[in-house]
Amino acid sequence: MNKRAFLEGFFTASTVAFGGHFMWQRINQESPLLASAPVVNQGNTTGAAGQSIDSFQFTPIELMSVQPAQGIPTPAPVLAPQQNPNIPFEVAELEEEQVESYLRKIRNFDAIFASDIYLDPRYESLLLRTTAHLTRVERHIGHGNFNLMSFDEMLQHGRNFSQIGKFEADELNFIEEVFFANPHRYGFFGKKISAEITDFIPRNDVAKISNTGHFLLKGESETLYNQIKKDVGNEVILTSGVRSIVKQMHLFLAKAIEANGNLSRASRSLAPPGHSYHGIGDFDIGKIGYGAKNFTVDFSKTAEYQKIARLGYVDIRYPTDNLFGVRFEPWHIKIS
Ligand SMILES: [Zn+2]
Repeated sequence: MNKRAFLEGFFTASTVAFGGHFMWQRINQESPLLASAPVVNQGNTTGAAGQSIDSFQFTPIELMSVQPAQGIPTPAPVLAPQQNPNIPFEVAELEEEQVESYLRKIRNFDAIFASDIYLDPRYESLLLRTTAHLTRVERHIGHGNFNLMSFDEMLQHGRNFSQIGKFEADELNFIEEVFFANPHRYGFFGKKISAEITDFIPRNDVAKISNTGHFLLKGESETLYNQIKKDVGNEVILTSGVRSIVKQMHLFLAKAIEANGNLSRASRSLAPPGHSYHGIGDFDIGKIGYGAKNFTVDFSKTAEYQKIARLGYVDIRYPTDNLFGVRFEPWHIKIS
């Protein structure tokens, strides 16, 4: 089903209006937003980030509404992807200090910068509610299957299972706005991978990778993973495989909550939905027993990574100082 058609019909009868609201905001001075930690109770609703969603409180902050694109370095123009898929914008177009500012951000991806863009606080409760809703979907169908869940399946599950609950018009509008917003506005420069929110991963195209809870696209991804395991050893494990738009949406919203609504900070660590190469075959690998450190720079210091780096046939998607607006991700394997 075409989502746009669906929403048109849906919203004709709806009173929900977002028109005239700015979704993006910029905070005007360096502000220790995270000085007070988010309030997290021992609730049983936990987001992908491991935080309690229902009970999450945003740190009260003073925000000033500004035009979305104001005040941030403008890295446009964007080259057509076919011209150069590895260079999302023309570096020569940037002033030196803009380049420095850009590099400072991705090298200190978890820091807060004056030019960071925030979600409008009017969306806070919607962000929390929608994320919790997606958490219920994930809990219902399981982490493994959630990796593949399409938007239409998400709607269907909401309608069919009372423990999930139907997705409301405002939640769907929010999900759609996040999906269709141009992430260049908040500093992410990777290209759009999925044009439509209803794009899905055909089940026949994926292989379940045993003992991981994840899937890989058959063909290049699966072959590459098996080759890496063969050459590096069984200590290497798939930590995240192919991910649907719904899965990426959930991860991104949870990351935005973790970042107190700072979308720039969130997107320095995680591609916004529709922009993740996990949608077309990229995957993450780690070292068995290394836990959360598999998703830190520490992974690059393991013997496993050192071996991988010497293999010659493996590329990582987000090397140091990449031009996507993303931190160094030594664990994220690129497919061609
Ligand atoms: Zn990844």
